[in-house]
Amino acid sequence: MTPSQQETDLIIGAGPIGLACAISARRRGLDPLVIDAGAIGQSIVRYPVGMTFFTTPERLEIGGHPLVCSGAKPTREEALMYYRGVARAEQLRIRPYTTLVGLVRDGRGLSAQVATRIGEERIQYSRLVLATGYFDHPNLLGIPGEDLAHVSHYAVEAHLLTGLQVVIIGGKNSAIELALQAYRVGARVTLVHRRATLKPSVKYWLRPDFENRVAAGEITAHFESTVETITPTTVIVRTPNGKQEIPADRVFALTGYRPDFDLFRRIGLALDEEGRPHHDPATLETNLPGVYVAGSVTAGRLISEIFIENGRYDGEKIYGDSASRTKAESDYGASPRPIGE
Ligand SMILES: Cc1cc2nc3c(=O)[nH]c(=O)nc-3n(C[C@H](O)[C@H](O)[C@H](O)COP(=O)(O)OP(=O)(O)OC[C@H]3O[C@@H](n4cnc5c(N)ncnc54)[C@H](O)[C@@H]3O)c2cc1C
Repeated sequence: MTPSQQETDLIIGAGPIGLACAISARRRGLDPLVIDAGAIGQSIVRYPVGMTFFTTPERLEIGGHPLVCSGAKPTREEALMYYRGVARAEQLRIRPYTTLVGLVRDGRGLSAQVATRIGEERIQYSRLVLATGYFDHPNLLGIPGEDLAHVSHYAVEAHLLTGLQVVIIGGKNSAIELALQAYRVGARVTLVHRRATLKPSVKYWLRPDFENRVAAGEITAHFESTVETITPTTVIVRTPNGKQEIPADRVFALTGYRPDFDLFRRIGLALDEEGRPHHDPATLETNLPGVYVAGSVTAGRLISEIFIENGRYDGEKIYGDSASRTKAESDYGASPRPIGE
């Protein structure tokens, strides 16, 4: 493990908010280093292929760069192209596939311990911004069979599901989107949802499509139902009409995500009962001096409270003066919430 010598502002996460923070820093004459455990926009990479955002393009923009899209709202692919382009235009220093694993105290203070494909190293920082989102950590069901190879907590390209029996657990956008896509490529789809109805936040263009497919018997839906066990070939579901064993070649448990609370605790962040890191709302500095939070992580497990629309001003709070903080606060207020996922 080799400590890197130069001190730098270090931003953890090259999602929309980490990139926005880096732009805020650049505009104050700093040259922050952004690291990401995956690629730029890794969370968006994991969205369903072809997904259309709920948000209109101008509310996803960062650094004042226009997000141009072919429809009324951008797709996953257009958003990836956009954030990649912004990073290039702003000449951001980004190290992909580099994961923060902890903070280390040595003679010169705290440094970040990061892991890459070839080993570990330390990076000295003057300020560290945690913009790590939540999409790496699915909420587990904690049921037998959840760790089987044909079970996933992320959507896949629907084409891979053609001709298969697919069970989808969940009732939010990702579950409904995958159910429709899988049905359209010729999968036999069963959706299992623990509530009596879909979430109100399901996109208005998906809901009638899904409901019509269910009414026509093209997709099977079990509401007020819970999956008890996943076997290599079936899913055992408790429904209001008793237990059912449903054939399943692939199972998608799309039951939400949460921030990396283990990392937060390991580095010494104080959390409230909702898992929100304690922070000064004006500057986003946490209980650890020099360590800041930005974007989704500020909301703890209430992940639908802070999203791209209203998290994109966080860099102004961290790097700005009181005037830019006040502006960021009023821009927050202008963004509707929540969009839900
Ligand atoms: C399917 C779906 C649709 C959505 N639609 C919308 C929408 O229409 N509008 C909207 O505003 N929001 C939407 N959201 C929410 C939006 O994606 C998040 O709010 C947003 O990505 C949060 O940005 P972020 O930069 O805080 O976190 P992320 O985008 O999650 O970025 C965090 C980054 O940190 C990296 N990372 C994590 N841990 C580490 C580590 N230890 N070391 C290094 N890097 C790490 C990750 O790889 C990731 O790239 C949607 C979410 C989903 C799942």
